[in-house]
Amino acid sequence: MKKEPIYVTQPSMPELDDFIPYLKEIWGSKWLTNNGKFHKQLEDSLCEYLGVKYLSLFSNGTLALITALQTLRITGEVITTPFSFVATTHAIHWNGIKPVFCDIEPEFMTLDADKIESAITPKTTAILPVHIYGNPCNVDRISKIADTYGLKVIYDACHAFGVEINGKSVLEFGELSVLSFHATKVFTTFEGGAIISHDEKTKKRVDFLKNFGFADEETVVAPGINAKMSEVQSAFGLLQLKSINDVILKRKEKYDLYRKLLEGRDGIRFLDYRTSVKPNYAYIPVFINEKVFGKSRDKIYNDLRDEEIYARKYFYPLISQFPSYKNLPSASKENLPVAEDICREVLCMPLYPNLDNKDIKKIVDIIIK
Ligand SMILES: *Cc1c(COP(=O)(O)O)cnc(C)c1O
Repeated sequence: MKKEPIYVTQPSMPELDDFIPYLKEIWGSKWLTNNGKFHKQLEDSLCEYLGVKYLSLFSNGTLALITALQTLRITGEVITTPFSFVATTHAIHWNGIKPVFCDIEPEFMTLDADKIESAITPKTTAILPVHIYGNPCNVDRISKIADTYGLKVIYDACHAFGVEINGKSVLEFGELSVLSFHATKVFTTFEGGAIISHDEKTKKRVDFLKNFGFADEETVVAPGINAKMSEVQSAFGLLQLKSINDVILKRKEKYDLYRKLLEGRDGIRFLDYRTSVKPNYAYIPVFINEKVFGKSRDKIYNDLRDEEIYARKYFYPLISQFPSYKNLPSASKENLPVAEDICREVLCMPLYPNLDNKDIKKIVDIIIK
């Protein structure tokens, strides 16, 4: 029998039979969207699981990011990282705001707090950092800078579902945090996302904005958008949540096996989590220094493809290299030396609960052969 291709990720699916009772209930009630029963249940259950107070579900992470910037009425310029999924910067652009790229730190690959201040101008109103690969940003330094300059902080936490620092959810930092529940993420609702806020008033504004700005049947309080999550997606989320601890545990086993088999080889580096972090093992990025290892990232990527193993160059090219952004002054290579280097070294290996340990060994053999 021909072997199935191995992709960088694969969603953990519940038993179909376990989903049918939820569908029957939706069919019975004919309540398909607009804050239905499962939608409410999922918001409550996620607040409890994640250890946060206010969470608003969204149809996807990108619309949640766009709405988060609207919620805080961000304008002018926003400082952000070029080393992320392209939606981080697109969300800024869709608000008519100018993105200002700031370099990342070589060790953790999150926004370099030492370089943020020099990117601030009189037009800067906010910082949009990313907890990249689920590794938290330097949240303490970033909030100090934001306080000093009167800036808002919105975290793109799309990789950071369930991540904690010192026993506290990483989603507690900043004015708002944004999650994605896309099919490729640790926790999924097919498509989906959320905004985490810290007070009832803000949560209310988020909820108005994601529903056209409606406060009630006849009152529209803001030019909102439609970014609501449906009942079917919410029900799927409730089912996903039942197995999430097991999913993260299995991810850890696979993650640890990769590290055991590859660690200590010259020219190969892993990303260490910051101290006091409880990770979610969302990704396993491997950084290949061609000069030292003797083989390039792209050679390894192609060797794996020849075996129908699809590792991914997350995140290459940098967002600052895409045509829409490359002419911004902050997009220059001189402004982003660390990110420019790291994006040429990184390769994210397949990592998901059902990945066979034999396949991990095969992947490692291809890398080192
Ligand atoms: C997935 C992702 C997004 C976008 O989320 P969607 O739900 O796919 O719209 C934004 N930022 C980062 C860092 C992501 O990984």
